Amino acid sequence: MSADLHPITLPNGKKLEVHTHLFINNEFVPGHGPLIETINPATEEVICSVHSADESDVNAAVEAANKCFNDVWRKVAPAEKGRLVNKLADLMERDKEELAALDALDNGKAYTVARDIDITESIGCFRYFAGWADKIHGKTIDTVADRWCYTRHEALGVVGAVIPWNYPIMMAAWKFAPALATGNCVVMKTSELTPLSMLKFAALSKEAGFPAGVVNIITGYGQTTGNFLANHKMVSKMAFTGSTGTGRKIMESSSASNLKKLQLELGGKSAQIVCADADLENAAVMACGGIFNNHGQSCNAGSRILVHSSVFDKFMELFVKATDDIVLGCPFAEDTFQGPQISKAQFDKILNYVKIGQEEGATLYKGGKRWGDKGYFIEPTIFTNCKNSMRIMQEEVFGPFVGIATFETIDEAIAIANDSTYGLAGGVYTSSVDTAIRVSNEIKAGTVWVNTYDIFDQSTPFGGYKQSGFGKELGKYALQEYTQVKVVKFQLLNTGL
Ligand code: NAD
Repeated sequence: MSADLHPITLPNGKKLEVHTHLFINNEFVPGHGPLIETINPATEEVICSVHSADESDVNAAVEAANKCFNDVWRKVAPAEKGRLVNKLADLMERDKEELAALDALDNGKAYTVARDIDITESIGCFRYFAGWADKIHGKTIDTVADRWCYTRHEALGVVGAVIPWNYPIMMAAWKFAPALATGNCVVMKTSELTPLSMLKFAALSKEAGFPAGVVNIITGYGQTTGNFLANHKMVSKMAFTGSTGTGRKIMESSSASNLKKLQLELGGKSAQIVCADADLENAAVMACGGIFNNHGQSCNAGSRILVHSSVFDKFMELFVKATDDIVLGCPFAEDTFQGPQISKAQFDKILNYVKIGQEEGATLYKGGKRWGDKGYFIEPTIFTNCKNSMRIMQEEVFGPFVGIATFETIDEAIAIANDSTYGLAGGVYTSSVDTAIRVSNEIKAGTVWVNTYDIFDQSTPFGGYKQSGFGKELGKYALQEYTQVKVVKFQLLNTGL
């Protein structure tokens, strides 16, 4: 067996070999940074050690991508680029179960959720953008009679990407799919906590037939590997998903190095507003998924629920019932909905917020404790009697943790929802179209769901307002994030004009 491959056995007895090296120029190569142990958060056991990239490895990856862009990839026909992206989607479909198993093992998310949502939607994302590959073009613009002008939507060159651990394949798909379809080469750094599924993805990209250098996947810590990438002068753009604090650092690196184009998808503290006229059964189920999906580890999690005081008791009865139905357990069990939190650090941070909430005078209504005696599991946690000024209503907890407050008027609910440094998403539950439109217009956030929550489609854009970042992923809007517009102007001679 090659030194790159490491044998593992999944909890269901299935045996796999995982890649542990960096993927540069279509080869798995050893990294020169420290080895990183990746942990199974359900058991707290080490899965394997993965190589990390030091500055020389980052340079090698960026140089491979840059050479490929200039010598090969920019000369490949757009339709062929689309065919390769579709082929990659086909291979992901073929190996869907393995990709889902790696995310379940490394991240702790429920295997069925990883398979049916994360991987399925990622495949859809690649197919969606494959369709765009040969439909990206500029315009001709009439100026004066003897001049002719046209625009070209050109690829940027080398795109650097840094992703978090909460949706390892999906956050990568949202960047790789539009970047490749628009003709860029990519160097992506995975999260140090969840490298395994993206190293499998790397092998699939080679099998799909991408020229060497188009797809490069490196692993490593943020302050080193991520920082080297963000500061690299040959990188034309950074596509980043992660916390607001890291987003700020990436912006500083971009500005200090070469003024890279930037796209930042950052944190959130989104509000779900339950109006007096809402269908409460629906609101309770949707709001429950809105916060507890992916163990609360979603940037768009509806982690503040604002309920009209007249329906508070009824809503709480239904919301607690929906929460009671959440099945915690081994990520590989068929009925598991909630697995462990990603790491000991996150587990400790969330339990510390339980303490903070109690000290701030909110009521711990349910949960707030470890579940089981092994793994980083936390019971779904509900706080009531929350004031929006409390830290538990202002800071991103990033766990199965929700703060609930009441309101008297729609104006008050809108004001509370907007009283946040973040602006990623929001939700409103109401049976009035007028209220739905008014609230969704007034909420300062990039996505507002009405009578539902946490619904994503490949064709609809996603991105934040305020300190939740800028730029759009998904949909046609994402194409402009990975292209730059050139204007070509002709003076026509001898036209007789
Ligand atoms: P994080 O910011 O700690 O890390 C994200 C990535 O950045 C990791 O790969 C990390 O290694 C890297 N990194 C850290 N420091 C760096 C630096 N100085 N330079 C370059 N790279 C660096 O975030 P996390 O804990 O992995 O993820 C959780 C956060 O991500 C939450 O705030 C969540 O809201 C956010 N998130 C946002 C979206 C969105 O679309 N808006 C989606 C998912 C997650």
